[in-house]
Amino acid sequence: MPQESLRAFIQRLEMPRYRANQIAEWLYRHHADSLDQMTNVSLTDRRRIAELAEVRVSSPTDCKVSADGTKKYAFTTDGGDVVESALIPEGERMTLCISSQVGCRVGCTFCATGAMRLRGNLSAGEILNQYRSIPEREHITNVVYMGMGEPLDNLNAVVDSVELLTSPHGYGLSNRRVTLSTVGKPAPLARLLKRCDVRLAVSLHTPFQQQRRELMPGTRGYDLNELVAMLRERAREDRRRVSFEYVMLHDINDSLSHADATAQLLSGMHTRVNLIPFHPWPGNDMQPSSPARIERFRAQLERHGLTATVRATRGLDIEAACGLLATRRPQTVQPQ
Ligand code: SAH
Ligand code: SF4
Repeated sequence: MPQESLRAFIQRLEMPRYRANQIAEWLYRHHADSLDQMTNVSLTDRRRIAELAEVRVSSPTDCKVSADGTKKYAFTTDGGDVVESALIPEGERMTLCISSQVGCRVGCTFCATGAMRLRGNLSAGEILNQYRSIPEREHITNVVYMGMGEPLDNLNAVVDSVELLTSPHGYGLSNRRVTLSTVGKPAPLARLLKRCDVRLAVSLHTPFQQQRRELMPGTRGYDLNELVAMLRERAREDRRRVSFEYVMLHDINDSLSHADATAQLLSGMHTRVNLIPFHPWPGNDMQPSSPARIERFRAQLERHGLTATVRATRGLDIEAACGLLATRRPQTVQPQ
């Protein structure tokens, strides 16, 4: 519950206003995991709160560790679905990649999460629990919404969770350390940006609108130029505010003419393009671009004056790399 909702909740119960601050302190400073720990809240008030609200931490139900140090945590939702996050240590940094949905309805043809279709939205609590419940929490320096799901398709819960991560009444992380990855549908994106200020990583994947709609069917009906114009405005002062992601698919979007058109689309924009090696998965016949082709593409973008980097693949051996989270389907009972 973001602070404003918590205040309204306390007010409805006709409790003193300062209760909301006391509770937030217990939750986000002292990491209380039950109402019983909140000893400066009277027992009567705790009982009344317990009739309507719940304080709960759900521990991960599984943890896999990659040879490169990446960890993949799995959580079981109340609905019995599995949701995953990845914890990626990189030098001084410790990045947690969290999910906002179980599955996704955008249906990108290269993404294993998309192939699951949408199974459900996570609540703000379920999103934050991925951060709150893991033993490394104190060491996390960055949080990225790059796991399962499209954040814009679960807008309210995502906004609430961002607020709790970044607010001084919440976990107090700097909003420069929170990045949200999205396909970037202009209207919901504008609504999100009105309500929270985070770094954006926008999944571009091709500069051609028609091809983008084929690769990312959920972007049909949205205009790519409108999106880029909006992002251009946002990136004006700081190149770290908006970056683009581009998954490198052999012979699909990795040609030099794709690089030229990408540079043209983003020309003059203060931004960075992050090239992601494609991670193949069973049941999908797309091929990753070779490292040489990725480098050729990167160099071409730079020739046009764009900053372009290649994202390191992490956690491949435990299926924690980009696009591979929670491909597992719930167990089905085999007929006898
Ligand atoms: N739905 C959001 C955030 C989650 S996906 C989005 O699409 O931006 C995070 C990133 O992983 C996206 O850039 C996505 O395109 C990329 N991705 C998806 N499947 C992939 C795969 N198989 N290999 C590499 N990257 C992939
Ligand atoms: Fe959804 Fe992102 Fe996967 Fe596309 S890449 S299907 S938007 S999770």
